[in-house]
Amino acid sequence: MLFGRGKRNPIKIADKGVVDWKYATCGYCSVGCSLEIGINKDGKPVSTRGAAGADVNRGKACIKGLFEHELFGSAGRGTHPLTRKTRFDKFEKTSWDSALDHMSTEIKRIQSAYGRDAFAIVSTGQMMTEEFYTLGKLTRGVIGTNNYDGNTTLCMASAVSGYKRSFGSDGPPGAYDDFEHTDCLMAFGSNLPEQHPIIYWRLKEALEKRKFPIIVIDPRVTMFAQMADIHLPITPGTDLVLLNAMAHVIFHEGLEDADYISDHTSKTNDFHKVIDDYDPESAAKICGIDADTIRMVARLYAEAGAAMSIWTMGINQSTHGSDGVAAINNLNLITGNVGKKGGGGLSITGQCNAMGTREWSSCSGLPGYRTLETPEHRKEIADFWGIDKDFFPEKRGLTETDIFPAIESGQIKGLWLVATNPMTSMANTARIRKTLEKLEFLVVQDAYADVETNEYAHLFLPAALWAEKDGVFTNTERRVNYISKITEPPEEARPDRDIFRDLAQRWDQGRKIKFPETASEIFDEMRTLSKGRLCDISGMSHEKIREQKGIQWPCPEGAETGNQRLYEDRQFQHPDGRAKLLGLPYNENNERPENKFPFWLNTGRVVEHFHSRTKTGKIGNMNKFSPTPYMEMNPDAARELGVEHMTYVRLVSKRGDAVVLAQLTQRVPRDMVFIPFHFFECVNRLTLGLLDPHSRQPAYKQSAVRIEPVDQDEAAQINAENRTF
Ligand code: SF4
Repeated sequence: MLFGRGKRNPIKIADKGVVDWKYATCGYCSVGCSLEIGINKDGKPVSTRGAAGADVNRGKACIKGLFEHELFGSAGRGTHPLTRKTRFDKFEKTSWDSALDHMSTEIKRIQSAYGRDAFAIVSTGQMMTEEFYTLGKLTRGVIGTNNYDGNTTLCMASAVSGYKRSFGSDGPPGAYDDFEHTDCLMAFGSNLPEQHPIIYWRLKEALEKRKFPIIVIDPRVTMFAQMADIHLPITPGTDLVLLNAMAHVIFHEGLEDADYISDHTSKTNDFHKVIDDYDPESAAKICGIDADTIRMVARLYAEAGAAMSIWTMGINQSTHGSDGVAAINNLNLITGNVGKKGGGGLSITGQCNAMGTREWSSCSGLPGYRTLETPEHRKEIADFWGIDKDFFPEKRGLTETDIFPAIESGQIKGLWLVATNPMTSMANTARIRKTLEKLEFLVVQDAYADVETNEYAHLFLPAALWAEKDGVFTNTERRVNYISKITEPPEEARPDRDIFRDLAQRWDQGRKIKFPETASEIFDEMRTLSKGRLCDISGMSHEKIREQKGIQWPCPEGAETGNQRLYEDRQFQHPDGRAKLLGLPYNENNERPENKFPFWLNTGRVVEHFHSRTKTGKIGNMNKFSPTPYMEMNPDAARELGVEHMTYVRLVSKRGDAVVLAQLTQRVPRDMVFIPFHFFECVNRLTLGLLDPHSRQPAYKQSAVRIEPVDQDEAAQINAENRTF
């Protein structure tokens, strides 16, 4: 009996005076929720709700999505192009014409003095796919630098690389629908309830209908680990060892799908040789999971009717990220799960349109998953754009993580950053600051003029934000979804695609190539180029996508809708049509805790914020719920060091230091601390960020730190100053 039950205050929902709801896809994470933005009688966006009938979220939205309309009126927006001679001068307003004239003159000066690749471009996972395609056309077809990448290298490069090595192409094989059909789910380094809340809700819905085991592999006892049937608290960075040991057990006990392996895979010579070395007893000593548990989960996975794996940064952000992804693919191939309903792998992406950039930006190659290394692909795109095929380089240039060291060494002199904020997002901030200071010319193009990296820019270009323009995003499960233009950008801010098109006009070759005006005309070009490719979108149009509230690719011409999963026909993209089983030995090569720096430093996200808080840092409720950088610390370790709950401490690594509030919790083991990565001048002052040799993705999650006391008043002051960003 609950006393006073009849006297509860009635829930009141404020009437915001919505007269119309406009359709959009969420601009934060890669779940890709369909939203409706409420407009009042003055045409102002005043509310957000999940769109009913959308397959992804079925009327739901997480806290970030629910306040997304507040972005339109948020502080710090860029309203005019700004220019200055040096970073010590004050920015002056300038016109778009003179800003773009100045920019093209500087790019041409740098390229003629130091070579075509001395000007680099780094973009994002935040723009519309049509904008990525247009930027790729400008970069590859007009400016002609080969040092061009996206910040997606910081989050998904290992997944891309692992897919390419195993299957011959990028492209996540699975779908959210697989939760409804799987008999076993393994999640590697993914805190689904906090990072991808609506995918988690889909998983819970599936679990309510039908019970199946959830195995979470994570060094932290995350929210996801707390609801799992089995939690494997693995030693950071050693997932590859666990996966090799599972493969060892599966073959040793005859649990493999021999027909699938012989019909659809090819083996590298060393595949069996490598996994032979990973008996569970030896593996346990490295990965920290006992041998019997390794055997138990291997049997559970292999004997399930359909088994699937999901993963995020716990796998990708590692010096073994690409190998970890390929090892997950190995596991799914030897158990016959790739292409099976409820089986296979699904990498869960970070940014709303990280997939769009993978498919269409030409960062790692040419549009539609074409490669620079394939002569026919170079010819096909050159003919389509109307340029000489020899204008393209014959192999990919530097990734984002190699572009910064190339600035340091003087090889790159100019940089254009589009909707990315390396001063907060890159590892070892002190080094990035020095790097940016070396540039002869830095352009920052962003919706926000107060983004930290703009402190180092010579030219700032104000861009329209999210639904201030139209276009499409692709989500984690390859679903292309539409964003309507809901409101105008502030003052002189412009859609990124218009900036790219107008800049292209400053080159002779840019005037020769056609740059369509509207998003739907650009989409039509992409449709044509996609025909017959794995990421075929030729059966889609903006109208059809909107009608169906998102369509998964491949969706070839004439198809009513898209395919839920890839490789159902077991035809892989390697020339022999087979997937590769790769031998993946583990080499211990990362920083580890030692005497002077005795704690693992682990990093990740919180539900309230997105990436470097450029957007969520401006939303009142997000800041209210998650106002400050903090550190999770184990209470036993805290007692030994005399650290009290909710007091400030200084963390020190070999790179630098950071001040955070200590939050004591058993979520982290005794030798680990965890800090969210969203905050300026915080965790990335400490991280090392060694690179994966295949994907060039940094290992953000494996650094070593020590904890020192700090003056509490001084720390509070530092904290307040850093939060102004
Ligand atoms: Fe947006 Fe992701 Fe939240 Fe969905 S789960 S509303 S896509 S932030």
